[in-house]
Amino acid sequence: MIIDCHAHCNLAEHIRSIDERAYNHMLSTFPSFSLEESKEWHALFHPRKTVRSLRFPSVFQGIDHRAANLYLTEQSDTQDRIALYGLPEDPDYTVGMLGHPRVSALKMYYSYLEPPATKIYQYFPKVVLEAAQARDVPVILHPPRKITACLDQILQLVKDFPRLRVCLAHLSLTKSAVSGLEEAFTAIAQYPLVSFDTALVPSAEVVTMTLRIVGPDRIMYGSDEPLHLIRSVPYTHPERGERLATEYPYHWVDAFEHQEYKHLAVGVTHAHWQALRAIKVAVSALPEREQEVTKQKLFHDNAKQFYGF
Ligand SMILES: [Zn+2]
Repeated sequence: MIIDCHAHCNLAEHIRSIDERAYNHMLSTFPSFSLEESKEWHALFHPRKTVRSLRFPSVFQGIDHRAANLYLTEQSDTQDRIALYGLPEDPDYTVGMLGHPRVSALKMYYSYLEPPATKIYQYFPKVVLEAAQARDVPVILHPPRKITACLDQILQLVKDFPRLRVCLAHLSLTKSAVSGLEEAFTAIAQYPLVSFDTALVPSAEVVTMTLRIVGPDRIMYGSDEPLHLIRSVPYTHPERGERLATEYPYHWVDAFEHQEYKHLAVGVTHAHWQALRAIKVAVSALPEREQEVTKQKLFHDNAKQFYGF
């Protein structure tokens, strides 16, 4: 049995619009992904496994998040869990929904705001965080920038809300072992209520570093379904910084950049397999007696405990 603690799910009818910023972002590749589609893909990808998921709607602003939250709370399998998608402009709604019996976590997203938030408290209002802390509902934090560029904000958050449980998504947004990452993980590791999910991290080096510094009890497998179906590889563009190279010309790919860099992505697999391989490489490098138990923690036990599966 696998627990996937980072999965997006909503219906096509929940999409009101896709603005230009979302359209030019890889997240608009699959603006909807239903519970039925999720089930089908689980059967294809992991045919002999049971997958339990923590689901939340797609994050861009054109989604009718109230309707999508309702869909998940009413129609998700009781084996699964739901993270409420919170609305920064409506803290009353967000706080009210935290008490819903099907809500196990709270997700809010920096780029929901226009222009995108640069501070955590812009998209996670303090009144909402206070309520989440009081109810012991963990928050899923996609930082506004990669961890090394916003470590001060994360440390401030854990100081301001010392009893709040936080999951830093995407191993805190690091696709490669950038400089300062080790120090950032070391600083965060001191706060036992902060955990991490592995969503869309293709780097074995980063997973290995997280395991070494944070330990095996606070890292949870997340797929980022359905975005894990995208076939891309991260690379560093000389001017634009960290970008994705793809072989297939997705609608969000810059045509000029594609011509220049598509060779980097020839034959690339779904991001799903790259992320799984990164975990496999990291776990396989541990002493043999630790491998099986670490795998069990990452793919099941930690999320069971953290999100109450
Ligand atoms: Zn995601």
